[in-house]
Amino acid sequence: MGVHRCRKCTAQSVINMPQHRLALCGEHFVEWVEKSTLEFIEKHRMFEPGERVLVAVSGGKDSLSLWRILSKLGYAADGLYIDLGIDDGCGYSKRSGDYVRKFAQTLPAGARLHVVDLSVAYGKAVPEMAGRRAGGKKRLCSVCGLVKRHEMNRAARELGYPVIATGHNLDDEAAVLLGNTLRWEVEYLVRQAPVLPAGDPGLVKRAKPLARFYERETAAYAIVSDIAYIEDECPFSKGATSLRLKETLNSMESGSPGTKLHFYYSFLRARKKGLFPGVERSELQTCEKCGEATGIPGLCAFCRLTVE
Ligand code: AMP
Ligand code: ZN
Ligand code: ZN
Repeated sequence: MGVHRCRKCTAQSVINMPQHRLALCGEHFVEWVEKSTLEFIEKHRMFEPGERVLVAVSGGKDSLSLWRILSKLGYAADGLYIDLGIDDGCGYSKRSGDYVRKFAQTLPAGARLHVVDLSVAYGKAVPEMAGRRAGGKKRLCSVCGLVKRHEMNRAARELGYPVIATGHNLDDEAAVLLGNTLRWEVEYLVRQAPVLPAGDPGLVKRAKPLARFYERETAAYAIVSDIAYIEDECPFSKGATSLRLKETLNSMESGSPGTKLHFYYSFLRARKKGLFPGVERSELQTCEKCGEATGIPGLCAFCRLTVE
C-alpha cells in the first residue's frame, strides 16, 4: 500500500483515488469534493445560485453530504424527508428521520426541513401499500421507489421548488447503467442522466449533483465532515441484482482503476451525441386524482396503490 501524501500540501492523505491519480488530506479532499460538485452542477446546468433547491434526504451518507455541500456552496437548499414507515423490528424509518432532523440543526439557520409521513398523509406506509405477500421484497422495493418519486415531485410542486436534488452517486448510476445495458432497455437508457429537465404535466426538474463521485468518496466526505448518518441499509434492502451489479463493477474497478468512471462518462458522451435516435419517451398524461404525471390514463400508479 504505502503511505500516500496529499498532492496539495504533502500531509498524510485520508484518501487515495487511483482513478484520478489523486491522494488528498482531509482538508484538501473536502475542498476538492465541493469544488468538483460546483463544476458538475454548472456543467450540467442543474440549478443557478439563488434558485431554491429541494434536497431529498434519506438520512444516509450521500444525501446528507449533498445537503451540506450545497449549503456550503451557498445554494438555497432545503431538505425533504419522506417517512416511508419501514420498521421491521429495527425502526429503520424512525431512526433515519432522527438522523435527518439532527443533521438539519447543524446547517445555518434558514435551511428548512420538510417531512412527509406517509402514514399520516395517506393512512398507510410502504409495507402496507406493497401488500403482505405478493412479490415479497422485490415488490416492496419497487413500490418504495415509485412512492419516493411521486412524493418528491408532489412536494416540490406544492412547495414551489423548481428542482429536486438526490444523492445518487456514481456507483448507483453505473450499476443502473449496467443493468439497463445488459437488457438494452433503450427507453430507460435515453432517460438516464445527471439532470432531467422539467417535463410537461407538472414534472419537476431532477438533478444528481453527486453522480460523479464514487461511493467511497461520498462516504469519506461524510466521515471527514463529521456527518452522523444511518449506516444500516434498509432491512428490505435493494434487490440482490443491484448489489451484484455493484460488486461486478467493483471487481473490474480493482483490476483496472477508473472502469466505473469511464463506463459512466463514456455513456454520457454517447448519449449527448444521440445514442438512440428515434427512441422517445411516451406521451405523459395527468393523473385524475393527484394531478401528477403518469404514463397511463386515469389514476397514476401511486394513486392506484393508495386507494382503498
Ligand atoms: P435510494 O433509492 O435509497 O438509493 O436513494 C437514492 C436517493 O433518493 C437518496 O440519495 C436520496 O436523495 C433520496 N431518498 C432516498 N430515501 C429517501 C427518503 N426516505 N426521503 C427522502 N429522500 C430519499
Ligand atoms: Zn492537503
Ligand atoms: Zn395520482
